Amino acid sequence: MKTKQDIVVVGGGPCGSYSAYTAAKLGAEVVVCEEHEKIGAPNHCAGHLNISSLKRLGIQIPRDAVENEIKGAVFYSPSGKEFVLRCRNPVTYVVDRELFDKHIFDLAVKAGVQYRFKSRVKSLLFDSGYAKGVALKGKELVEADVVIDAEGCSSAILKKMDLEGLKASMMVRGIQAEVDGLETAEEDMVEVYLGNNVAPGFFAWIIPRKDGTAKVGLATSTGNPHQYLQRFMKKHPVASKKLKKSITTNINLHPIPLAGPIPKTYSNGFLVVGDAASQVKPTTGGGVIFGLTCANVAGEVAYEAVKNNNFSETFLSSYQHQWRRLVGFDLAAMLQMRRILNSLSDSKTDKIIDLCNRLGVDDVLEKFGDIDFQGRSLIPMIKYPGTLAVISYFLYSWLTSTTKR
Ligand SMILES: Cc1cc2nc3c(=O)[nH]c(=O)nc-3n(C[C@H](O)[C@H](O)[C@H](O)COP(=O)(O)OP(=O)(O)OC[C@H]3O[C@@H](n4cnc5c(N)ncnc54)[C@H](O)[C@@H]3O)c2cc1C
Repeated sequence: MKTKQDIVVVGGGPCGSYSAYTAAKLGAEVVVCEEHEKIGAPNHCAGHLNISSLKRLGIQIPRDAVENEIKGAVFYSPSGKEFVLRCRNPVTYVVDRELFDKHIFDLAVKAGVQYRFKSRVKSLLFDSGYAKGVALKGKELVEADVVIDAEGCSSAILKKMDLEGLKASMMVRGIQAEVDGLETAEEDMVEVYLGNNVAPGFFAWIIPRKDGTAKVGLATSTGNPHQYLQRFMKKHPVASKKLKKSITTNINLHPIPLAGPIPKTYSNGFLVVGDAASQVKPTTGGGVIFGLTCANVAGEVAYEAVKNNNFSETFLSSYQHQWRRLVGFDLAAMLQMRRILNSLSDSKTDKIIDLCNRLGVDDVLEKFGDIDFQGRSLIPMIKYPGTLAVISYFLYSWLTSTTKR
């Protein structure tokens, strides 16, 4: 491998590999430094991805990476009321994240990207205020004209560029168990459990696979996630019945950034993508689709910088303009929704679920809802009296809540 590359990417997660793939496909020389010895492990993610968004990105997942096809969701209110949103056709895939990441890695390798495993990046190389590569653990240097930071939530190196990192105050701690022996009536529906005692600051989920196994998890802004998960699986009036014969085979913990994107995602010779930039949906914690969308832009802009031999932050700022145009409105709208959700008492959440059922909101959601572009999908829904009433109550609950905003 040449010591000097056009672009070095820090982190071989989906966003790092996808930005590398895009830049290499256009003609740049790219190396990815990944601290682990293989792609996709350890896996902490539920892998619940919107089918239409994957199509929009042009990503065709190999069949063996698709664990299930999901037609909708059942929401359980804190008191156990159900709201069912079922579509005629599958809307999401449950993917095996290790195989999914491996697929993006394969695309990148075919496009000419080189990978360095067991290569933890410790710091950046600088020249006249420009990032000019990275220093690996063990002191080896990889020089490059553009550094793409895709290191996920650890997001340590962007601070070396004096960029603002992830906001700890809106980070939730995610925990997910792999279970065998789920008893559920509907294998093509995910289940979402709401309530301040279930998962404060987030929600709990059961995501079934076709073979009777499932991913069971939650995230929480306070307390011990292990204890919340134990309580959810053993004591929740609905979930514990479905899980009473289940065996837990694996448990993983990982943070989820919910504060919306960091204010600045570029600097001289430097771009930040994915979880490191908090390009994550604040409502659901899903970061793969928006992360890949932004990573694609980062790959294009990094390539353009190489082509034009211009690595200034003025040139690279077009990355932020472009990704904001694609997902900025939705991320901002979802951040407001998350703030409102966090301010709701359990009784108000119950009332909202109740209203959704009584006002037939499921039909409107099926027609216009989009689990990724939640902000823009609200706009056409407003003209329907049922959804307008629910949105109004949602806002009213927030305005009258006693929780600090
Ligand atoms: C419990 C849980 C469930 C989730 N479920 C979903 C879901 O259903 N759908 C969804 O869309 N999203 C989900 N997410 C979020 C999703 O996992 C992330 O948004 C996504 O993985 C972000 O991709 P990334 O490439 O930015 O970062 P990561 O996937 O975190 O990859 C970062 C990579 O960088 C490497 N790295 C870090 N630091 C360094 C360094 N200094 N040097 C070299 N390598 C380094 C790491 O080893 C890792 O491989 C979930 C998250 C959690 C915690």
